[in-house]
Amino acid sequence: MDKILTSWVAIPEDSDFGIYNLPFGIFSVGNKEKRIGIAIGNQIVDLYAVAKLKYFDDLKINKQVFRAPFLNDFINLGKPITTKVRLKIQKLLSNENSSLINESNVLINQLDATMHLPIEIGDYTDFYSSVEHATNVGKMFRDPENALLPNWKHLPVAYHGRSSSIIVSGKDIYRPKGQVMQPEAKTPVFQASTRVDFELEMGFIIGKNTTQGQSVKTADAEDYIFGKVLFNDWSARDIQKWEYVPLGPFLAKNFASSISPWIVTLEALEPFRVQGPKQDPKVLTYLEYSGLKNYDIRLEVSLQPKNGEENIVSNSNFKYMYWNMSQQIAHHTSNGCNINVGDILASGTISGKAPNSYGSMIELTWAGKHPITLSNGEERKFINDFDTVIMRGYCKKENIRVGFGEVKAQLLPAHN
Ligand code: CA
Repeated sequence: MDKILTSWVAIPEDSDFGIYNLPFGIFSVGNKEKRIGIAIGNQIVDLYAVAKLKYFDDLKINKQVFRAPFLNDFINLGKPITTKVRLKIQKLLSNENSSLINESNVLINQLDATMHLPIEIGDYTDFYSSVEHATNVGKMFRDPENALLPNWKHLPVAYHGRSSSIIVSGKDIYRPKGQVMQPEAKTPVFQASTRVDFELEMGFIIGKNTTQGQSVKTADAEDYIFGKVLFNDWSARDIQKWEYVPLGPFLAKNFASSISPWIVTLEALEPFRVQGPKQDPKVLTYLEYSGLKNYDIRLEVSLQPKNGEENIVSNSNFKYMYWNMSQQIAHHTSNGCNINVGDILASGTISGKAPNSYGSMIELTWAGKHPITLSNGEERKFINDFDTVIMRGYCKKENIRVGFGEVKAQLLPAHN
């Protein structure tokens, strides 16, 4: 990096939202309209207010695009424009440029704002791209000797999920009910799941449409990624175990997934590229890639019982992913399936090699065999009613920190 940028906005040390990040989100204050904002420190830059001051006039953007309940229309302007908006805000917030300092309506305290689902999500696909997670689950659900199925290292396995139940951080979820086959039983029962789990994932937002029939090359795939969020793919392991053969996840997964409200752009993550794991066997040509396509994003999961304190139960990293996002897009479009602005593609559970880096309770407790003891003395095999699960993530290099904030949700008892 050239010279270190600093901002005239007070940014707390270790803030996720320094001047090099500037993620996009949708906020509102009181019962006012939803607008597009950019996070800086503990504040939000109201982009509509900035547009009204004519700062974006040279970009020829209709300022109404910033007065919107979702980011889709803004993202649809294309990366050349959205990148310029972000860089212009970076310039306006830097110490060398203080023309916004005395504008009273531009900055909003995050504590005064409500954050909303940032995207009107079209389609949602969930991959299964961590070799450690797939191996752990394969050992527990199937065969310890052949944990990975024969296709796993040849293609990024995924399923089509459901977008209707993707919710923003802070919204509580209900314990799902469903069919469960108890051990030793001959017939299933219908009951509230007793094995509700989180899955530590990251999602990325598609920023450019493809046409049906078109396939995206790995070399071009990042042009199609607007940015990333933290993603908790809530799962019901007992329902999953009974239903998932032969067509894969269904009701065990689609009752809820939580995402963080701020979308960190791929440009902000640029300094944190790293080499991915070696892929052996060699992949087919359309999945080959060059360059650094993994990202060093430190991740943590915390479990907070009702009236209790947070307990960190996992420390993982996005860099562990076996299949990278460019390969996931190339594979997803390899048959001509079109992707659209506002689609979310999630990574799958992100587990590392160390047992404390596993990204789900089923792995951390090894299917409940080794419960986790919380600081209040209680034990957890899975998630209890009124527990809150909080995921956080950030990148750090040479004092530059780019973070994702958090995604949190409390599990409520089953809805009657
Ligand atoms: Ca998942």
